[in-house]
Amino acid sequence: MATHQMQLDWIDEQAARMQSLVEQWAHVNSGSYNLGGLNTMHGMLMDEFAVLRGELRSIDLPPAKNIDWAGNESTTPVGDALSIRMRPDAPLRVLLCIHYDTVYSAGHPFQQVTRVDDNTIRGPGVTDAKGGLVILLHALQAFEQSEHASKVGWEVLINPDEEIGSPVSTPLLHEAAKRNHFGMLYEPTLEDGSFAGARRGSGYFTLVVRGRAAHVGRNPDQGRNAIHLLADVIRQVAELNESIPGATISVGKIEGGGAVNVVPDLAICRLNARVDDVETQKKVEAAVREIAETTGALEGFEFFFDGQFYSPPKPLTEQTLAIFDAMKACGEQLDVPVRWRDTGGVCDGNRLAAAGLPNVDTLGARGGGIHSDREFLALDSLVERAKLSALLLLRLADGSWRPDWID
Ligand SMILES: [Zn+2]
Repeated sequence: MATHQMQLDWIDEQAARMQSLVEQWAHVNSGSYNLGGLNTMHGMLMDEFAVLRGELRSIDLPPAKNIDWAGNESTTPVGDALSIRMRPDAPLRVLLCIHYDTVYSAGHPFQQVTRVDDNTIRGPGVTDAKGGLVILLHALQAFEQSEHASKVGWEVLINPDEEIGSPVSTPLLHEAAKRNHFGMLYEPTLEDGSFAGARRGSGYFTLVVRGRAAHVGRNPDQGRNAIHLLADVIRQVAELNESIPGATISVGKIEGGGAVNVVPDLAICRLNARVDDVETQKKVEAAVREIAETTGALEGFEFFFDGQFYSPPKPLTEQTLAIFDAMKACGEQLDVPVRWRDTGGVCDGNRLAAAGLPNVDTLGARGGGIHSDREFLALDSLVERAKLSALLLLRLADGSWRPDWID
């Protein structure tokens, strides 16, 4: 059937099942640092995704590295990733990704799923991104029922560390990006139901100044005040907001010193930089390096910084537009509006794009209030968005849509 009605009807029949799966998963706390909860969630995903009959694999990840408030390198363990591959040698290959961690820690008061009205539930991660996980699963299940499925190979990558910037799963995303022709990511749609077009880039940096401690009363001359120097560095960083158009830089956290009658020998700050495009990103990187060089050269001080643009800017390319056009055609058949707009937020779509994979990254659930205790999910979006994804894959498989960058 040219319209793939059978598969779409099947998704309609799954509405209750999809809803109960989201509720089940949202009741398991899988905050990025809650290893126990992540393991439980990982096990549930392994069980559910087995239904796809692909090559299912759990992937151990090394701990994430960071700089602690003593200025030393420390590590934080993360959960395991999950990979499922089907027909890796098919001529058309699609990567489908989403994360299973959430921003809510095990101690966060927001842990329960509650019913708001007929079409709305409220709960931690219901939209970001447990709804997306359910949508991805059902879209693929429907797709696999089609006789055309053999034309398309797919790979699912589910990571445990996206909400902390995918520090450890980024290499997996990059490798998977190289094996596939385009990407489908299941982050929530924007609040008005739009898909994300271009995304700004985002970088996190930690700046560390070490000086020399001394008694403020007895021998202040021997001291090197790390806080005074860091204050000057922060002023220079803040001025980049004026000197580099298209960049937003904000120091968000600062710490240093101890007893006030001691010249402090350590001061640390952390900043987030957002940039419109790669050119701007390079300017910010160069400016930070230059500040580091001049500051590090001061007598009696040490200066170093750690960090990078973990999420490079994601421009709206011709290829992404081609995917949107194909989605529009699907949306017309399903009576679902397909429109997109730019956003300052970042996600793994930025990282896939940086690795050269065209992708649409907001194929997940409709809802809102994400990253807050107001997070809610529009239940009808589960079926709606699963159909949209399934139809896109089906139209790719039956030849109705052929991305022109695939030979
Ligand atoms: Zn997310």
